[in-house]
Amino acid sequence: MTSRHDDERRRAELVTAVGAVRARIADACAAAGRDQHSVTLVAVTKTYPASDVAILAQIGVTDIGESRDQEAAAKVTEVAALLGETAPPRWHFVGRLQSRKCRSVASYADVVHSLDRVELVGRLADGVAAAQRSRIDVFVQVSLDGDPARGGVVADGVSDLAAAVTTRSELRLRGVMAIAPLGADPEHEFARLAEISHAIRAQHPGADAISAGMSDDLEAAIKSGSTHVRVGTALLGRRDPVFG
Ligand SMILES: *Cc1c(COP(=O)(O)O)cnc(C)c1O
Repeated sequence: MTSRHDDERRRAELVTAVGAVRARIADACAAAGRDQHSVTLVAVTKTYPASDVAILAQIGVTDIGESRDQEAAAKVTEVAALLGETAPPRWHFVGRLQSRKCRSVASYADVVHSLDRVELVGRLADGVAAAQRSRIDVFVQVSLDGDPARGGVVADGVSDLAAAVTTRSELRLRGVMAIAPLGADPEHEFARLAEISHAIRAQHPGADAISAGMSDDLEAAIKSGSTHVRVGTALLGRRDPVFG
């Protein structure tokens, strides 16, 4: 159990961190000539407890990201209990999506950022139907360096995967997502993602969102049109390296 004093201290820490990240987003938008409301802050809370998510929701962070199904599923229930009458956050699944996890993810995620294979489309859509939920938002994850270990479909495959998503009424194609490859220049990488987004939008005008930018590179992503930044460390602190 934590004391009331610890709770207050954590709340104060998170208020400060959220303010600092929102200021970075506002500055990056101003520099790019964009409206700051065109960027959604997704707080990535993996490895952090449900109590942190509840605080974030209470201080106005409406979008929460998780990257492991088991952890996320448990947290969704815990957070709902902690929040009581307060509206739950929108849950974003941002981690590697495995086929055997699709059904579970579809039962709680409002947004999936990491769809990267055609075989997952049917599983995810069937999961949404089985859970009797309304349509969820989906981003197609693009691999900018072709390294399959980090997830994502290579640029040549994005168009077919996007088309597959639109065959299912349970899914709404929202746009494209990417993680900047390690060691690469994020500005260059996110500019490439913007080109891919442009091509997809020509085929699917509603798919106008871009999920890009994390704690270290959100400014570069916003410069290239990111609409959803996924921020963990800068809000919650350094994660235990064992848990990535
Ligand atoms: C962990 C994670 C993030 C957040 O990364 P930080 O560098 O801690 O901000 C964003 N996107 C994905 C897919 C992640 O797994």
